[in-house]
Amino acid sequence: MKPKKQMSIREGKSKILYSTDDSQQIIQFFKDDATAFNALKKGTIKNKGPINNKVSSSIFQFLEKNGVKTHYLSQPSEREMLVKKVDIIPVEVVVRNRAAGSLCKRLGIEKGRVFKPEFLEFFYKSDALGDPLISESHIFYFNWATPEELNCMVTSSIKVNQLLTAVFNEIGLELVDFKLEFGRDASGSVLLADEFTADGCRLWDKKTGEPMDKDRFRQDLGGVDEAYFEVSKRLQNYFEAVL
Ligand code: C5P
Repeated sequence: MKPKKQMSIREGKSKILYSTDDSQQIIQFFKDDATAFNALKKGTIKNKGPINNKVSSSIFQFLEKNGVKTHYLSQPSEREMLVKKVDIIPVEVVVRNRAAGSLCKRLGIEKGRVFKPEFLEFFYKSDALGDPLISESHIFYFNWATPEELNCMVTSSIKVNQLLTAVFNEIGLELVDFKLEFGRDASGSVLLADEFTADGCRLWDKKTGEPMDKDRFRQDLGGVDEAYFEVSKRLQNYFEAVL
């Protein structure tokens, strides 16, 4: 039975969260709005809401099937994802397979340098502070997550990287880096939450090296709508065969 959407709980940069008639379930509504540089740059990407919902729903289903616990429940409509209600842990995990973005700017690391095994960084989830880089000691000292919770987040992030690197490789894309968010459900289990879309990862075309993600929007490279559509199309073709 389709859950009844109730009040809007929170509107973020790319999604609106709604409560439902089940206190343990919420709806994520995907908008077409795009932002970058902590919302200093704003725009829209054609059909991004439905594309991101579809991409994220398929990826979460694939990850669940392969042993990663996520908040995903179902996709009641084109722009809506039904998810388990969780308390979001205010620590964003960034997984890097190659150097790009803020890592290059912050530390002067050359763009494209390969990290094997993958390299993890933690950021404090705060729009007001611009999501600053943090360490384990901040996480434990300020009780943002327990050592057990952080251990779950790290193990899960590495597993997501192994699984999705292989998927993107199959469809001609290199998974350069990505950001994950986690939450605690009513029983205290740590679940992968939020979304996995081209808004929150870097994907380089294996043939051309061209970015196929939000960097096209951030850097005004053009072909933004087309890149989002292309990634979604390649993923759907792949998942139709395996899901
Ligand atoms: O900006 P930076 O290079 O640290 O981003 C690393 C990865 O995490 C990129 O794929 C970026 O899209 C993603 N990210 C995100 N949300 C943030 C910060 C980074 O989705 N707040």
